[in-house]
Amino acid sequence: METGAYRILLYYKYVHIEDPETFAAEHLAFCKELGLKGRILIGEEGINGTCSGTVEQTNAYMEMMHSDERFKDLWFKIDEADGHAFKKMHVRHRDEIVNLNLEDDINPLELTGEYLKPEEFFKQMQDENTVVFDTRNDYEYDLGHFRGAIRPDIENFRDLPEWVRDNKELFEGKKVLAYCTGGIRCEKFTGWMKREGFDDVAHLEGGIVTYGKDPVAKGQLWDGQCYVFDERIAVPVNQVEHVIVGRDHFDGTPCERYVNCANPECNAKILCSEENEHLYMRSCSDECRVHPRNRYFTENSLTVEEFDERLAKIEEVRSETAVTN
Ligand SMILES: [Zn+2]
Repeated sequence: METGAYRILLYYKYVHIEDPETFAAEHLAFCKELGLKGRILIGEEGINGTCSGTVEQTNAYMEMMHSDERFKDLWFKIDEADGHAFKKMHVRHRDEIVNLNLEDDINPLELTGEYLKPEEFFKQMQDENTVVFDTRNDYEYDLGHFRGAIRPDIENFRDLPEWVRDNKELFEGKKVLAYCTGGIRCEKFTGWMKREGFDDVAHLEGGIVTYGKDPVAKGQLWDGQCYVFDERIAVPVNQVEHVIVGRDHFDGTPCERYVNCANPECNAKILCSEENEHLYMRSCSDECRVHPRNRYFTENSLTVEEFDERLAKIEEVRSETAVTN
């Protein structure tokens, strides 16, 4: 496979879709016929997708979408790739194309924050009276974020409204600059913030992935990498400098490598080096490490004796470094 022979598309649009269930079924058949792989959510409120394919396949897809009146202005964010970034093709019908789960839903076509182009966002971020607000989940923030941005302590986007209500003093009297990966979460969320009474709320048009490619902003003031929901996991943003902000879960050293906890009932995302992955048997805690369903144990065909040796080794490292994990 040659570099750049494939592409990864990221896109969304809030637009009314009649009978989304039928549309989703037809869309899945079409994507499979083209040979695309990825994940697409379709609801009455619109479409939210990311998929990969060859240049030819993705071109055919974009052409088809643009020939549909509803999606004629659909904005595709395009990354070059060496191969597929997904294993399968899923198209699913959902009530919401991002899971915010508000008691009283927001239609971003009616209420949303001010749109800022990357260049404007870059300038405004440097203004004293602004706060930069990351509307993503904690593990996304931990891999990379705008310098000084507020980090919501949430694992799911739907928990964000409650978090903002509990922390509203952070935003009061300030211009709020919200951002997310591709822009879809902010469209709804800045609308919600305005309804909550925060008047001066703006968001980054096209999200972080667009900001990183902008010829003026060049990804500046971004530290670390951007978490993406495909097999790449991390993509670069800042074209000028690369400051690593991720920290190894076990020893606190700079790290940008995510793995999932080997306990399937936990599955937490852990930043860690390859060395620590094996030392700690890819388990986020002592509890997960000895969990009867721990996958590391079976994947590596460990005997009980070997497993006990590994646990002893962890104790040894801990007593040497006095780091508790
Ligand atoms: Zn765990």
